[in-house]
Amino acid sequence: MRPTRRQFLTTATSFIICHSLCNGRALSQQKKSTRVVLLGTKGGPRVGEAGRSNPSTLILINDVPYLVDCGYGVSKQLITSGVALNRLRYIFITHHHSDHNLELGPLFYNAWITGLPVKVDAYGPPGLANMARDFFNYQKFDIDTRIEDEGRVDPRTLFTTHEFDKPGTVLTNDDVKVSTCLVRHPPIKQSYAYRFDASDRSVVISGDTAYAPELAEFAKGADVLVHEVMYLPGIEALLKRLPNAKRLREHLMAAHTLPEDVGKIAAQAEVKTLVLSHFVPGDDASITDEQWAEGVRKFYKGKIVVGKDLMEV
Ligand SMILES: [Zn+2]
Ligand SMILES: [Zn+2]
Repeated sequence: MRPTRRQFLTTATSFIICHSLCNGRALSQQKKSTRVVLLGTKGGPRVGEAGRSNPSTLILINDVPYLVDCGYGVSKQLITSGVALNRLRYIFITHHHSDHNLELGPLFYNAWITGLPVKVDAYGPPGLANMARDFFNYQKFDIDTRIEDEGRVDPRTLFTTHEFDKPGTVLTNDDVKVSTCLVRHPPIKQSYAYRFDASDRSVVISGDTAYAPELAEFAKGADVLVHEVMYLPGIEALLKRLPNAKRLREHLMAAHTLPEDVGKIAAQAEVKTLVLSHFVPGDDASITDEQWAEGVRKFYKGKIVVGKDLMEV
């Protein structure tokens, strides 16, 4: 049956009203909200088999991306999360283990090669500037060829590194204050957590750390704490398969945080939501969400989110 003219007009009018209202609402929400998207939740440099990408966390503040860590696969994960690569603007590296920086240069390259305007500021511990310089040397032939042959802008003029070697404020703009806390990740001395204080939300990313009470102070009252986590029975199973098991076990125990201790940090910090990420082991699909969370819950009574790739918190 064909709709009457009146029915058609009603439908058309409600579509127009809804369209403008819904779009308006979506836009205003986007402008005001601070969003957190887990791009990669697998701890460690091995490329995962169980659906987790290597570490990276995206914070969108007033629609501007702030990216913490650049594990392998981050370019693809960023696109999948809905952020076009030429929108890349700020990168923060927690420390220089390769699961946190392996795709730093390639990510910027992938943004540059879109041909659209891109300008990136990257922040991190000493070694960052050398890493950028070395990447540009590694791709010197390609970059110089494309500048000459395709008339591209020199990418080395579009990428700025900002190194720091002690905790403090690393960036302040109209939307956010970004500060750091030195955490405990031996043998690496320069390993940091980041805190983003925006007008509507505070978000803390632990980086890689053993139990660090100073992190609880740093994260005090945050809306969201994204904390790394290591599950001991899971690593015992993993270690059985490896020739360097003893050394690796010592490193893991000294450098990462067990669920109970993550719970203590979240409780001391009184955060509203705790998000588990950087899972060690990160590719053992037999470990359930409940197994990750149960140790945490003994000490922390707030909301616990067991992170998954591309999950928004
Ligand atoms: Zn790591
Ligand atoms: Zn690490």
